[in-house]
Amino acid sequence: MSWDERQRAMLAEMGFRLPARAVEAVAADEPDVAVIERPPVAAPAPVISRPTVAAPAPRIAPALPTTFTDLDTPALREAVATCRACGLCEQRRNAVYGNGAVQRAQWLVVTDPPDDADDAAGQAMGGDAGRLLDRMLLAAGQRRTGDQPTAFVTPIVKCRPPRGRAPQPAELDACEAVLARQVALLQPRLVLALGMQAARRLTGLAEPLGKLRGRVHAWRGLPLVVTYHPAYLLRSPADKAGAWDDLCLARASAES
Ligand code: SF4
Repeated sequence: MSWDERQRAMLAEMGFRLPARAVEAVAADEPDVAVIERPPVAAPAPVISRPTVAAPAPRIAPALPTTFTDLDTPALREAVATCRACGLCEQRRNAVYGNGAVQRAQWLVVTDPPDDADDAAGQAMGGDAGRLLDRMLLAAGQRRTGDQPTAFVTPIVKCRPPRGRAPQPAELDACEAVLARQVALLQPRLVLALGMQAARRLTGLAEPLGKLRGRVHAWRGLPLVVTYHPAYLLRSPADKAGAWDDLCLARASAES
């Protein structure tokens, strides 16, 4: 992996400083991510296993309801805005379809459910957490804004659960039909799950987030990598080192 000025700047904004050896490698156009030394962190660095695809998740994906299967992007956006396929429609202010790449996406970023600000704005991942996410994506060579966005960011359920509770299985089942249609339209090379609820749903595994990180899962035939939610990283900056490991794993998986 080579590092351009923007990526190095984004890494710095994430709280990283490339060591001198890595900078020399950049100057020599040395492409190996392994030369990047991580900065010292308070917690011991986790052992990251390289991209070995885990066994398929045991969960059986629900069949898609016919209401979404044939829709193009504008029609799907409109359908989501007025969707009443599960009870989460009752208290939402706005459904959050997602934003980023318009037609094809290299990365599909699936987050935990919308928070109060997302629900008010109808936009995915705004505020400080959204800005950190954008810097993380840029550091990994992706972008969800600008002239040519390459990543699309969307929540695991499009409507905010009341009082921020976890979505129930029936609600997740209903909204996975929307997510599956988004995948069909965007045709991403990789799925990145941000946060516990997105990670557990997509992996089908009820394990702590720490145990879901560091390996490549499979979801609907796509490589799936799990990492921390940016809102968590704002509260726990020491874990940015682990998030960077996850982004490197995601990038390697998308390119393999
Ligand atoms: S959460 Fe998803 S399935 Fe449920 S009403 Fe909102 S858009 Fe429809």
